[in-house]
Amino acid sequence: MDKEVYPGHHTVDDAKADTNCNGIVGRDPLTNRTYEEQWCKGTQPLGTIVLGDSAGAHFHIPPQWMTASQLNKDTYSDLLLILENEFDWPMLSLMTGFDTTQRWKNSIQGPMDSIYLKMRERNRCNHRDFQNIAVNGAKSSSIKQIAESMSRISGDNPALVMVELIGNDVCSGHNDTNHMTKVEDYYNKMSELLSYLNDRLSRGSVVMASGLADGRLLYDILHDRVHPIGSTRKDVTYSQLYDFLNCLQISPCFGWMNSNETIRNLTTEHGEKLNKALKDLISSSKFDNIAVYDFPLRLNEIVDSWEHDPADLIEPVDGFHPSQTANALMANRTWERLLHDYPGILPPVNPHNELITKKFGDQGGY
Ligand code: CA
Repeated sequence: MDKEVYPGHHTVDDAKADTNCNGIVGRDPLTNRTYEEQWCKGTQPLGTIVLGDSAGAHFHIPPQWMTASQLNKDTYSDLLLILENEFDWPMLSLMTGFDTTQRWKNSIQGPMDSIYLKMRERNRCNHRDFQNIAVNGAKSSSIKQIAESMSRISGDNPALVMVELIGNDVCSGHNDTNHMTKVEDYYNKMSELLSYLNDRLSRGSVVMASGLADGRLLYDILHDRVHPIGSTRKDVTYSQLYDFLNCLQISPCFGWMNSNETIRNLTTEHGEKLNKALKDLISSSKFDNIAVYDFPLRLNEIVDSWEHDPADLIEPVDGFHPSQTANALMANRTWERLLHDYPGILPPVNPHNELITKKFGDQGGY
């Protein structure tokens, strides 16, 4: 990769080369100014970055892989890509989804929308300025190291960064609570991350920290449903599968995917302690370059307003991650909250959007 060419790169002028990859390049012969200067400068471009776990990366195993009766010649058509991406679908995810082609429809179905697409619509200068740095299994102890792989330096365009670690600090496959992150350790690791982001990001950047979700919702919705693995004979419920995975100590989350209500409640209680620590950290910190907001991702709100089967909102195979439909709904809900509940985060609409589209079309696509 050319270190001087990447999305969000601070642009000198892009008279000859598109150094920020947004498809806007060259000089307007009528004004003798570059198009970047004319249509992007001063419009407050803002990149979209997610740092997080498998939910941010959009983990999904095609349910038909589990079901003998649904096997056909297309069932494994996306197999290589899926294995290469470790079952993650960042191109269709809540924060950084960009692929509206439905080209993966054999393996994943549902509406697509994302914060990046909305950010691009708001300002075409943001074209291609997204980074999905979400890693399966990420938690507070690993998130700073994950953030170090961002392609962003101070002086580049500011970014809207979602930090989402919704479960791994209380989840593990072990059947005890000793593997949960201690409150003090969580506070210190998140503090390290925020200081690091303040050093790496340009002034005007925004960090939204989601905290942990309340995973009890998963059991409440799914426990008596039939899991895809048992769909042929209707004989394996999620509750039974959870207990089986716990017995083998290979569950993605012993605490929430558990038929014992006391354990589910204990897991949420500890998650709430970590969330309180994060809130305290945010309210007591001052940063020069970044504004930090406590921004819980509320899957429960999506569930409450969903008029169909709530199971549509959870990944059927793992019974744990938000589904494609939930990702798209969360993108819309998150955007509404940014517009109405957090005034000042979203820059204004770029008045030159139409001129950019007329001159540069789809700006090179993806
Ligand atoms: Ca450019």
